[in-house]
Amino acid sequence: MKSYKIALIKGDGIGPEIIDEATKVLDAIASVCDLHFDYEEVLMGGIAYDMTGDPLPQETINKSLNSDAVLFGAIGGQKWDALPREKRPESGLLRFRKELGVYANLRPAVVYDELINASSLKPKIIKGVDIMVVRELIGGIYFGEPKGRTQEKGWNTMVYTREEIVRIAHQAFRIAQTRGKKVCSIDKANVLDVSQLWRDVVTEISEQYPDVALTHMYVDNAAMQLVLNPKQFDVMLTGNIFGDILSDEASMLCGSIGLLPSASVGEKIGVYEPIHGSAPDIAGQGIANPIATIASASMMLRYALGESEAADKIDRAIKRTLKEGYRTQDLAQFDAKEVCSTSEMGSIIANYATK
Ligand code: NAD
Repeated sequence: MKSYKIALIKGDGIGPEIIDEATKVLDAIASVCDLHFDYEEVLMGGIAYDMTGDPLPQETINKSLNSDAVLFGAIGGQKWDALPREKRPESGLLRFRKELGVYANLRPAVVYDELINASSLKPKIIKGVDIMVVRELIGGIYFGEPKGRTQEKGWNTMVYTREEIVRIAHQAFRIAQTRGKKVCSIDKANVLDVSQLWRDVVTEISEQYPDVALTHMYVDNAAMQLVLNPKQFDVMLTGNIFGDILSDEASMLCGSIGLLPSASVGEKIGVYEPIHGSAPDIAGQGIANPIATIASASMMLRYALGESEAADKIDRAIKRTLKEGYRTQDLAQFDAKEVCSTSEMGSIIANYATK
């Protein structure tokens, strides 16, 4: 039996509810795949601030780095919005990513056939969409120096080093090898020198992956192509700010925010989390959609632990659950046969995952 140590960060709002469903599904999968998960719960966010005075206690960083992967719920809420910036839950999260060195953010955008009417685009445009956005997460204009502002002027700098581009490019090509074998690299090389470097380095790295087809696209065109013909994309490789914008656009092709998982990975460790926040408006009511978190657990199995068979079982169970018409409240108006609670949804998926 293979055993894995998972750091669990439940966080605030709906965080504890959705993480409980993800561990329910993981434990069900463990029983049929000869696996064991050893969970260690650590604190982050508002709850960490309330209990320790720090939204990211050092112990959380240490224990996370000492695990095989981190499964993360969500943090934040109005209760902590008036705190000084460095004490706020969101600052803890940014610091956490930097401390763990998770430089690559992977965001799949998959349209489930069963929810095709939940998208704002026409079914014929989005049927079969399966995109993986690979976004550089700890470089680019959000971190570049110099930056500053006066009364009259504000400035930030988009900087990428060769090394930063090399490592994210390898991630994108390796992921493409497990999927449709296409990488579209997004930049603004017609205007920005930093983008020309990005394009040159990505092209250079592509020579090590002859089985993957590389194309380049300017970011403004990519924003348009995503809504015009999203099926042309397999892996989209982007820098930090372009990926921030395009991954939100891509995710919204799919319908509810409650469906979409993500992974942030680096050399040491990966953090697996839903793309949504702590949804304080629905916390404690048992109506949150746990699918994004369960799908994040599946990404953790696939990318951090190499357990792709177990991941496939979870992905199939999610599809079957949706196909049979089970919906949480957020998707109740889209072909629901039965509207279920957060916990019922987790139990149905856990059950199907073992079949
Ligand atoms: P949100 O994603 O929490 O919620 C946006 C809307 O989507 C809400 O109406 C919410 O009810 C709904 N929603 C979100 N997840 C859902 C789910 N699983 N099932 C059903 N409905 C769901 O974004 P927000 O309201 O802008 O932010 C709330 C708090 O979350 C803020 O404090 C914000 O800073 C924080 N936040 C945290 C993260 C994170 O932890 N990674 C990410 C984004 C926002």
